[in-house]
Amino acid sequence: MLKNFIKLKQIQQYFKISYKHLSNTYFQIENKSNYLRVKDNNNNYHDFHYFWLRHNCSCFKGCNNAQTKERTISTTDFPIDVYPLTQTLSKDNILTIEWSDANHVSKFDMNYLIENSYAKNITHVNEPIIKLSDVEIDYNKYKTQTLEYFKDCKIRLDTYGSVIVRNRGIDTEAIIQDFGGELFHSHFGRLEDLKTDNTTNKNTDQLGN
Ligand SMILES: [Zn+2]
Repeated sequence: MLKNFIKLKQIQQYFKISYKHLSNTYFQIENKSNYLRVKDNNNNYHDFHYFWLRHNCSCFKGCNNAQTKERTISTTDFPIDVYPLTQTLSKDNILTIEWSDANHVSKFDMNYLIENSYAKNITHVNEPIIKLSDVEIDYNKYKTQTLEYFKDCKIRLDTYGSVIVRNRGIDTEAIIQDFGGELFHSHFGRLEDLKTDNTTNKNTDQLGN
């Protein structure tokens, strides 16, 4: 009996350490394209991707082993674009989500979510939309107009971080000359030959492997 009491006290203590009391915190939830935004009354917001939430379902009806409490659901068991059909937040801060994936239902204690907030107050940056035609140029167009060619390469490098030059051939030294002829020497020498049987690289190690 005393043993059980001590055990209970230990468990209570554990929860006190691991969960801050959020009873005075109020939350609002807002759906975004592929994540749920949770706002608290201190103007913080926490974003949770639907995919992450679905994978972190705590139920014992297919997601966790009831005896060992181990997670049994794999990220390949549900669609990558899973999303909530419905969601409710109770007064005691329990978030219930019914998923598009076989109407599965997950419940999350808001304490758990805030403790595991991996994207607090972050700014989402949209991925740049780059079409191949934005970075692609045809070397034949320039003929002897080296400066124009160089300028067009630079514009693409500055804007998109890459340039694809068609029809330039495979003469490495000629391509280097297009860009001034100067190279920054690396651990492998002036040029690194990517062929496995090369004999020209300064070092043939795998940088620590
Ligand atoms: Zn579940």
